[in-house]
Amino acid sequence: MIIATAGHVDHGKTTLIRALTGVDTDRLPEEKKRGLSIDLGFAYLPHPAAEYCTLGFIDVPGHEKFVRNMIAGVGAVDLALLIVAADDGPMPQTREHLAILQLLGVKRLIVVVTKTDLVEETALQQVKAALKELLSTSPYSQATFFSVSAETPASTDNLRTHLLDLAVQHARQSASGYFRLAIDRCFSVTGAGTVVTGTVLSGTVKTDDTLQLLSSGASVRVRGIRAQDTEATVAAGGQRCALNITGSSLRNSAPKRGDWLTANPLLEVTAAIDVHLSVVGSGKSYAADANPRSARKPFRHWTSGHLHLATASTTCRVALLNGDELPPGQSALARIYCDKPIAAVTGDRFVLRDQSAKVTIAGGSVIDPLPPGRGRSQDARLRLLAAMHNSDPALALSETLSLSSAGIDLNRFIATANCTHEELSYICKQQQVVSCQSGGQSGGQWWGVGQEQWRLLQDNLLAALETWHQSQPLLLGASPEQLQKHTKPGLSEAVLQTALQALIACDKVVRQGAIYRCKGWTSALDDTHETHWSKLSQHLQSAGLVAPRVVEIAALLDCPSEEVLKLMNTYVAHGRLYRVSANRYYLPETLQQLATMAEALAQQDNLTVAAYRDQSAIGRNLVIELLEFFDRMQFTRRNGQHRSILQPAIEVFATEG
Ligand code: GDP
Ligand code: MG
Repeated sequence: MIIATAGHVDHGKTTLIRALTGVDTDRLPEEKKRGLSIDLGFAYLPHPAAEYCTLGFIDVPGHEKFVRNMIAGVGAVDLALLIVAADDGPMPQTREHLAILQLLGVKRLIVVVTKTDLVEETALQQVKAALKELLSTSPYSQATFFSVSAETPASTDNLRTHLLDLAVQHARQSASGYFRLAIDRCFSVTGAGTVVTGTVLSGTVKTDDTLQLLSSGASVRVRGIRAQDTEATVAAGGQRCALNITGSSLRNSAPKRGDWLTANPLLEVTAAIDVHLSVVGSGKSYAADANPRSARKPFRHWTSGHLHLATASTTCRVALLNGDELPPGQSALARIYCDKPIAAVTGDRFVLRDQSAKVTIAGGSVIDPLPPGRGRSQDARLRLLAAMHNSDPALALSETLSLSSAGIDLNRFIATANCTHEELSYICKQQQVVSCQSGGQSGGQWWGVGQEQWRLLQDNLLAALETWHQSQPLLLGASPEQLQKHTKPGLSEAVLQTALQALIACDKVVRQGAIYRCKGWTSALDDTHETHWSKLSQHLQSAGLVAPRVVEIAALLDCPSEEVLKLMNTYVAHGRLYRVSANRYYLPETLQQLATMAEALAQQDNLTVAAYRDQSAIGRNLVIELLEFFDRMQFTRRNGQHRSILQPAIEVFATEG
């Protein structure tokens, strides 16, 4: 984003840029000597978190002799800072620069009152009032005000943060999001191979990038780019471009008009989209001229037609989500069922034509391209869609979070809003969203919960655990799976795990093996349990790495198998045993030993079924059961023949003393 300064000479423009960026833009010797800016100065401030969001400042001279240079600088700016000294108030060049900014069509203005250290509060208020008066007849009557002083460096912090946020918003409109190109043509060029052309809807692409062809999921590599009709190494949102692509899959299926090329790893095609639908109005509208009869009719639930979205089109049916018909000129929430899968992201515009594809009957914007199946509360769904209906992902996120007591799936948000992972992380950090992850960095779950919802969620979880204790007085506590079933609304694994960790950290919940219980809760096992346990634990210890089957234990304890199973599950609930499979239960210390062995093999990149069997001298079937149990415990993850360690054994199988 390019930002220009404007304002009278000596009002503190150059000083402010230096305070914001650390760069002195008075670089000409004569400028230094005379202490005033003659020519344009440039300073850049990279965004600490988001790529392509660098702030570029053009420091323009304020002296009346140099207004020509000021105009040259303001040609392509997105935002201007009108700088006014508190001890001087609006002066001639303040007014002149303001007029020039308007003539050049600069859309946005921020007023910065400098040198606040030189005046009393009442004088400051007077200057602000004078400026408001001055701006009231300009397009900038709603401009935001900031007050700063070079004597207090921290006074520029708010302004800097505000500008960086604007830069993210701005970049989001142009180069933000994952790269997405709507293909309108595809052809072969001798010597070059496949070329597709289209408009870049978001993001940027560089030569050698890998992209996904959405219809087939095939990977392609970008060999060459022409952007806006010139050879380029990068193309960005808003540009038309031609991409020369290669990939083994292109031989079997050539890309077609209507397909997408994207860098979003989570984008999917869909058969239904939830939209904000506006019916073409009556009166002088296009449809009224073309087809007076259809235009006067209300839009009915389950109307069929042709959907046009970017370069794709398909026949479809439209279900109104609230009501049976919609009068001309009105808008409502609707679900479009497509006869052919399409791809879309939140905010994409579409047009709906009638069955003959001759008359435009409606249009609108996509809200949720991956809607859930039916069967949920209609009211809640409508509220959620209204919250999601926002062109600014940051606002959509905060609105949606405030309605989602169990949090929202952030990976799904990446797929629907086409925010990049980094952009979403940044928004989450800004909004203090509680980030919940499970199953490792990539490929795992990523959920977010709003601050207020997070407190309630933990209270509910604790209450659920207390209720569990009341109803199961013999058990030591509950497993995550049991808790998941007993909390409403149901929590995702990532949210549940993170909430349990938080409750442990604040000393309200205790974990023992795979079992969680409220701090202070105790449950005594009765005498029979203890008698059986002393026999059983000895037996398990002497059995070593190969745990006895349930039938063997039944014989040992002289109990029917069903009784033994109940007994074993009680011990599991007390954290005394782990259930590895239907037939095998292990002592925590034995599992520790087995897990350490797995860790050692993984260190040599050799954690396979065969290697583990050789190392442990356990039969192949039991080895498979054990390794799958490790996967379920999120101790290991399987990638083909090999497994890798996700977290240290000591953490997964830790037992509180
Ligand atoms: P420009 O002509 O608008 O670029 O103004 P400069 O940044 O060159 O500042 C003009 C003079 O005002 C310099 O001597 C600065 O040191 C001084 N100045 C700038 N900001 C402040 C401030 O906040 N407080 C005080 N006391 N002096 C300031
Ligand atoms: Mg200056």
